[in-house]
Amino acid sequence: MLECKEKECWDQFLQFIKQRCSTAEYENWFRPIVLLSSTEELITVEVPNIFVREYLLDNYKQEFCDFLPEKFPGEPAIEFVIAKKIDTDTVKVEPVITETDAEQALQKLKLNKLYTFSNFIEGPSNQFVKSAAQGVAMHPGKSYNPLFIHGGVGLGKTHLLHGIGHHIIKANKRLNIACITTEGFINDLVDHLRNKTLDKMKRFYRSLDVLLVDDIQFLQNRMNFEEEFCNTFESLINQNKQIVITSDKPPSQLKLSERLIARMEWGLVANVAAPDLETRVAILQHKAELKGLKMPHRVAFFIAEHIYNNVRQLEGAINRLSAYCRMMHQEVTEDIAEQTLGEMFEETPKKSVTIEGILTSVASMFNVKVSELKGTSKEKKIAFPRQVAMYLAKEMMNDSLMKVASSFGGKTHSTVIHAWKKVAKQVETDETLRRQILMTKRNIEA
Ligand code: ADP
Ligand code: MG
Repeated sequence: MLECKEKECWDQFLQFIKQRCSTAEYENWFRPIVLLSSTEELITVEVPNIFVREYLLDNYKQEFCDFLPEKFPGEPAIEFVIAKKIDTDTVKVEPVITETDAEQALQKLKLNKLYTFSNFIEGPSNQFVKSAAQGVAMHPGKSYNPLFIHGGVGLGKTHLLHGIGHHIIKANKRLNIACITTEGFINDLVDHLRNKTLDKMKRFYRSLDVLLVDDIQFLQNRMNFEEEFCNTFESLINQNKQIVITSDKPPSQLKLSERLIARMEWGLVANVAAPDLETRVAILQHKAELKGLKMPHRVAFFIAEHIYNNVRQLEGAINRLSAYCRMMHQEVTEDIAEQTLGEMFEETPKKSVTIEGILTSVASMFNVKVSELKGTSKEKKIAFPRQVAMYLAKEMMNDSLMKVASSFGGKTHSTVIHAWKKVAKQVETDETLRRQILMTKRNIEA
């Protein structure tokens, strides 16, 4: 049982924070915290994942210290327990929905049947984004809103978007959902404008509980349509209705109005990166199993070593291999994989690392602009990614420090060394940062 006094401290802390930050920030980062125990010496809380812990400690340490016990001055005595993962696909749902209803809903929504959470293989490159997607699916409108998923082609953005749709229609048939491509939205708008039925369209979109929008990059340079989209967006968000958007770039790099970019950055922006070797092997094995193809681990490993940028290509490889082996009545072996897939194994020579490449990848990972990285802002959300970019430039490029420093808008070489030392030290103990750097490196080299 919690001691009343300490529990009160915690409540006061939440009240205080509520006044200090935006509703979206509160809903994203504080609402999911569960207070487990509380004494005069130590507060123990449960958070959904490691990122929430990092975010809280990075941004609210001082506030924790003001309200809660301290280990020593400036260091809050707070223990974070990471919540056990719930596989949302196995969460029991009430059988309120019949098979045919579900089928109809699926067809109406045009969700790909295979794009479920349980078919989405998790690894370090997509763990965070998958857990955010599951959070949204479990509590639409109450956790991260909007959820903005960005990443390169064929890395699973549409899969996750549909995964959210699948989960929601299974768990709550009363919710009104639409899953659209941005092209679909534009076509809809054109049709309704032509038929003078725009009000009908507005009523439809603005009465939704959940709006899933794929590939928002196609809204770029479509000024007339952007405004209507932005109005729909605001109307839904203001009613706490859930919006999820996917894109090939983070919001700050999209050529859209500042108003829409700011709205999209309101909730949680999550990146899905190219999977590492182990995850690629697991994806191959999973896809082979779905096709009923026997795929020895050795062969999966061999293919995964040669196809690394795009999960869709991994799928293509499985399809080709499976067709060949069926036709020729052969078992899957490394030799056959090499024969049939050889031309897909482009040994692309490693791209030479450029400062622009580093800046673009870091900007994308940390959701800042390249110009901000080159600028002078001391704001932590920009200054730290800038230090990471300097660290990577020193690690990955052969250029002199002077040259690296000048690429950052004329900084001195000691600034670069300082940044490099700081980040190198932090990487040793900070698991999140280590992963972020690993993913950024892979992006730079891809
Ligand atoms: P994007 O929308 O990012 O271009 P998709 O969601 O269309 O990519 O994914 C391309 C293909 O790769 C899909 O068939 C999807 O099922 C598959 N895929 C991507 N990531 C994963 C993953 N982590 N686990 C299983 N399949 C995946
Ligand atoms: Mg897609």
